[in-house]
Amino acid sequence: MTARRLAVPAAFLVLLGVLVVRTVDAGGFGLGLRVDRATTTALRKAAPPKSPGSWPVSWISGTDCHNDPPMQVHAYNEDTYVIRQSKCATYEAPFLYLLFGEDKVLLMDTGATGVLPVKALVDEIIANWLAAKGQADIDLIVAHTHGHFDHVQADNQFAGSPDVTRFVGTNLAEVTSFWGLTNYPEDIVTYDLGGRVVDVLATPGHHPVSVSLYDRDTQILWTGDIVYPGHLFVFSASEWFDFRDSLQRLVDFAAANPVQWVVGCHIEMSATPFEPYAYTTTVHPDEHLLQFRPEILSDILEASLDMGNEPACTIFDEFVIHPVYLCGITWNG
Ligand SMILES: [Zn+2]
Ligand SMILES: [Zn+2]
Repeated sequence: MTARRLAVPAAFLVLLGVLVVRTVDAGGFGLGLRVDRATTTALRKAAPPKSPGSWPVSWISGTDCHNDPPMQVHAYNEDTYVIRQSKCATYEAPFLYLLFGEDKVLLMDTGATGVLPVKALVDEIIANWLAAKGQADIDLIVAHTHGHFDHVQADNQFAGSPDVTRFVGTNLAEVTSFWGLTNYPEDIVTYDLGGRVVDVLATPGHHPVSVSLYDRDTQILWTGDIVYPGHLFVFSASEWFDFRDSLQRLVDFAAANPVQWVVGCHIEMSATPFEPYAYTTTVHPDEHLLQFRPEILSDILEASLDMGNEPACTIFDEFVIHPVYLCGITWNG
């Protein structure tokens, strides 16, 4: 029998207007859940952002290690960069964000390997940006979505460097003091990069010290590891409640602010619904897009609320609710 299971009786889900979808995979017959989007919370209609951008057709995904660069740099627009580390270098293949304001440039995370020259790459992007703007210098701020190992491995390339104006550690005291979060995790604060303001939301649940950023200029909500197309890992029973509270905070925020895209730090789903890659897989042919539409937030919230206080490891169409303490980290259905 497959480990996938329904969290609540199907009849109850039908009452709630939730669509139950039966799926077949190589492992046999399994049940998957899909939340009917007609039931989701009404999110604010997005007005055009001040600074629109575009996404690449695909990311390096371990399918051509001979020719792919170890890190792919994508300019979403002239002031917003997304860096993907190659599956060939690290199975985590995380995404890093680099946001330029007029006075400060903010790097979120340093990646999953200390071997790759992350700082040299960031320095090059900054030098090109300064040249294009005709600007002499800019303050580099290095912070993190959260402190898991796959987001901090190149920290030592930045910490203590004279090129870095401020390096923010990953513990609660450093994170709350830097952002100005005085009532963690309830308060939402702003951080000004110089003509570019981001809102900072505390989003524990995947990790106790975690922030998501909302960029007003692009209307991108950068969610770290709490929301991305893949395994939404929750590591303890108590964090299940933090996870749901953070999802509620994100949904409430997206109901009050226009969100174009929700962007996390990994891709672990294939483009085919209900098909996650196994954690630690090093080749990802035909990946799901990195970016989600904002409705994904209420989909994940509703899926987790439907599970009540006893979550189950469950594969959904575009994400996996994955309480590690129940089924282990390598569970894949
Ligand atoms: Zn993580
Ligand atoms: Zn991660």
